[in-house]
Amino acid sequence: MSAPGTVPMIRMAGVDKFFGPLHVLRSIDLEVPQGQVVVVLGPSGSGKSTLCRTINRLEPIDSGTIEVDGQPLPAEGKALARLRADVGMVFQSFNLFAHKTILENVMLAPVKVRGTASAKAREEGMALLERVGIANQADKLPAQLSGGQQQRAAIARALAMKPKVMLFDEPTSALDPEMVNEVLDVMTSLAREGMTMLVVTHEMGFARRAADRVVFMADGEIVEDTTPEEFFTSAKSERARDFLGKIL
Ligand code: ADP
Ligand code: MG
Repeated sequence: MSAPGTVPMIRMAGVDKFFGPLHVLRSIDLEVPQGQVVVVLGPSGSGKSTLCRTINRLEPIDSGTIEVDGQPLPAEGKALARLRADVGMVFQSFNLFAHKTILENVMLAPVKVRGTASAKAREEGMALLERVGIANQADKLPAQLSGGQQQRAAIARALAMKPKVMLFDEPTSALDPEMVNEVLDVMTSLAREGMTMLVVTHEMGFARRAADRVVFMADGEIVEDTTPEEFFTSAKSERARDFLGKIL
């Protein structure tokens, strides 16, 4: 939980979400203090992606409240665009614009949404590509890059908006195994630099190494919310132990 007197970066309280009759998020309470790295684990279909998507309102919720940096999520319009700028998201599929260069992909949102001058967006974009180790790919099209490079470009693109929080939904699941680490390394350095992060992943090494906290979900509920150490050595619930038995 957050230190007294500080506003958590993410605060979800009593959040429920249905898809038709399917109750996919069940009374979710989750607070993520600024600078914390939370890894979300759980079996397929447990609601991890939906949880992420509610935080930048890609999915509306049916009840409860969500606040980012103390502000309730706006429903629409400019306020929603601003919220989405504050909450960066990286998906399994890289979702880069195929007909724009890597640098153009990174510059686009700052220019269009933040109103950053093009020269400044270019300079900051190049610095970000440098940071994720692909500055030499700036003028290439996404298809000319490896999967790992494309995902690093997607991270740079999200960072270009200077987000307050980064959400990662299985960012390495679509990658060939030899490219997983280059993406996890970028995420690990981001974590060390103090970014608030919510990361859905099956990479247990990353969870052990980079997470401050593990949230385990099953059937739309948060079943465990603890330290990585505690989770991996002495998970309390049957469902978490069963999950760990299959994955480790
Ligand atoms: P996870 O990411 O943990 O695998 P999801 O959040 O993707 O789980 O899905 C949770 C449940 O919600 C699953 O049963 C899934 O089939 C269902 N679901 C997800 N998205 C939709 C949707 N757009 N419409 C209907 N059902 C959905
Ligand atoms: Mg998912």
